Amino acid sequence: MRILSISDEDIARAARALREGLLVAFPTETVYGLGADAFNPTALARVFRAKKRPRFDPLIIHIAALEGLDPLADLDALEGERRDQVRRLCRRLWPGPLTLILPKRGAVPDLATAGLPTVAVRFPDHGAALRLIALSTGAVAAPSANPFGRLSPTRAEHVRDQLGDRVDLILDGGRTRVGLESTVLDMTGPVPRLLRPGGCPQGEIEALIGPVDISGGGPVNAPGQLKSHYAPRTPLTLRGPEEMAAPDYEAGAGYLFFSGASRERWSRRLPAGGPAPLTRVLSEKGDGVEAAANLFDTLHELDRRGLSRIHAEEAPPEGLGPAINDRLRKAAAAGAS
Ligand code: AMP
Ligand code: MG
Repeated sequence: MRILSISDEDIARAARALREGLLVAFPTETVYGLGADAFNPTALARVFRAKKRPRFDPLIIHIAALEGLDPLADLDALEGERRDQVRRLCRRLWPGPLTLILPKRGAVPDLATAGLPTVAVRFPDHGAALRLIALSTGAVAAPSANPFGRLSPTRAEHVRDQLGDRVDLILDGGRTRVGLESTVLDMTGPVPRLLRPGGCPQGEIEALIGPVDISGGGPVNAPGQLKSHYAPRTPLTLRGPEEMAAPDYEAGAGYLFFSGASRERWSRRLPAGGPAPLTRVLSEKGDGVEAAANLFDTLHELDRRGLSRIHAEEAPPEGLGPAINDRLRKAAAAGAS
């Protein structure tokens, strides 16, 4: 495995590697992806092996221009209103952290879609990712660059530490901006359905196409839908704001607060003179976007400290709050199992 920069020269080299069927981890605005040429079944198989991911999980295919959608998805197979909605979403929210599930074209290998008649497509908002995809075949299948069920990587070092030589090249673009995986929206059913909350808030989608079904649980065994995905090794307990403010503390545990104000409230109630527990704050000013960007990074950092437990505070339910809480709930479920 080699770590490269995101210079034009290094990106051109990485694109050649993709064309040769090698695996390239690359930054996007959400998290680092483990990329393979979407049209090369051997390369796709290597992704599953590298991630130790169950074969039946479909991958998100990344494109670098709206024209990249046509070879992958057949919008004419959708009914008129749904097709208009897809066009509106593509025009207004791409590039960005929104993955659309659409009817697939025959050229897309079954390994990329787990044999489903649908394909997941995303147009990432990240210069280096777009240059890489454009210089490769224009379609790069990429799940998050972490072993199945572990924390998603927001830095090149996370990929190196978690995947090592199971990846051929890593493009180091520094820390990712959004820090949460994309929102996954299924546009192939009778109503648009949110399969996974993520970096694109539900409100932004609904402002464009009206209400979406958030009842969850689809026909696909999506990893984003498994209860114990996104897991740190350290057991994690998710606590509501009131529970979090309780002045208890466990020796050896770490406390992860949503805002500076929450930590302040908690610390004021701590008995004076006691040991100071390890604390972290996702966003000092309580901003959901900043908190999301810091989430995996902070969990990776806490996970390296050998804590007995992480007590994490729920995010308020607006904006990216539901996506943050989804990841924290899954981290908590993994520890409990
Ligand atoms: P990851 O790339 O690891 O962030 O996960 C991709 C997410 O998209 C998972 O939750 C997948 O199951 C979901 N996904 C990909 N393709 C499809 C599809 N055709 N239908 C439903 N969900 C999909
Ligand atoms: Mg993932």
